[in-house]
Amino acid sequence: MPTSQPTQTAEVARLLAKCQRVVALTGAGISVESGIPDFRSKGGLWTRFPPDQYATIQAFMDDPEKVWQMLAEMEKVLDRAKPNPGHLALSRLEKLGVVEGIITQNIDGLHQEAGSKTVVEFHGSHRTLGCQWCGKGYGSDEFDGTETPPLCSCGKVLKPDVVFFGEAIPTRAMNDANSLASGCRVMLVVGTSAEVVPASQMPMLAKRNGATVVEVNVERTLLTDSVTDHFLQGKAGVVLTDLANEIAKLL
Ligand SMILES: [Zn+2]
Repeated sequence: MPTSQPTQTAEVARLLAKCQRVVALTGAGISVESGIPDFRSKGGLWTRFPPDQYATIQAFMDDPEKVWQMLAEMEKVLDRAKPNPGHLALSRLEKLGVVEGIITQNIDGLHQEAGSKTVVEFHGSHRTLGCQWCGKGYGSDEFDGTETPPLCSCGKVLKPDVVFFGEAIPTRAMNDANSLASGCRVMLVVGTSAEVVPASQMPMLAKRNGATVVEVNVERTLLTDSVTDHFLQGKAGVVLTDLANEIAKLL
């Protein structure tokens, strides 16, 4: 039965320090503290821009200007966001040789901004854009945001390299995630209920290969009573900072 949180944090810290080869699976919950509301939450992006009309690849191909009304809003939120203590703690744990890599469902690039090096982005990134018609790629820093929608040199509207509904997860991300998840000793699930494929498969894959699953979430999820071995309840920024401080003492 779960013990009180401080005891449990210390126990998990010992486990992580001993096992190393830790892979983190992160979701929207870790970026909420950076001011990015979960798109699915009340007041989130999807309540104002229904994803079937604004976030499918078909919607983009049919009417990219319309989809950019949603993307412009999303960019405004993402551009303002800075890494929070949760992102920084994971980056610190990578430098300490404890965290091997991060698999994230987020498109905000905040793990990299926090200094993490091995980051697999399941749903792509908003930091690069591509042309669906001629294939040319651009960095989002090549556009200052006044130009909406941003255009390719061929004249067509560019699409951020985020995975739209109806698009496949990039093969490379899928392969990298599978290899990280199947090779880790501990999977640290942070800020996600991991109910959406393929993220949902990662804790199971890790577990089948002998890993311990540690979950950090504000609320219990479907994972908590199924695959989770240790549940640390709380905000990612608080829990991960405590964990990183404890681990640093043990190394
Ligand atoms: Zn083009």
